[in-house]
Amino acid sequence: MKELAEKYNTELLIMTGFLDGINESLKGYENPIDTMEEDTVVKIEIDPEKLYYNMVEAKADWLYGLPQWDAILTPEKRKELYKAQKISGTVIKGPKIGRNDPCPCGSGKKYKKCCGKNA
Ligand SMILES: [Zn+2]
Repeated sequence: MKELAEKYNTELLIMTGFLDGINESLKGYENPIDTMEEDTVVKIEIDPEKLYYNMVEAKADWLYGLPQWDAILTPEKRKELYKAQKISGTVIKGPKIGRNDPCPCGSGKKYKKCCGKNA
């Protein structure tokens, strides 16, 4: 961590913040941000698809909209990741069940006397 901070001419705290931000966009592992010290050896191999996805999730359009992405992921791939992220956050609500309706579990009882007892 100390070497990285020096290499990028920044402070250890800023380097840690950067790593914290990017930690979930790495290839199959995460660095131990919480227990990290200046001599902790870290690995930074960015997975561009994960990174793009996470930027969409964070609604950081100033990041996932950067023109530099053109050189990293195709527009089709980006569209696909964008859609996948948006869909993952969608809550699909079923029709509302009334207390006196038959229970959807198929027991034949009223919802309020069956699965809806504690609802
Ligand atoms: Zn039921």
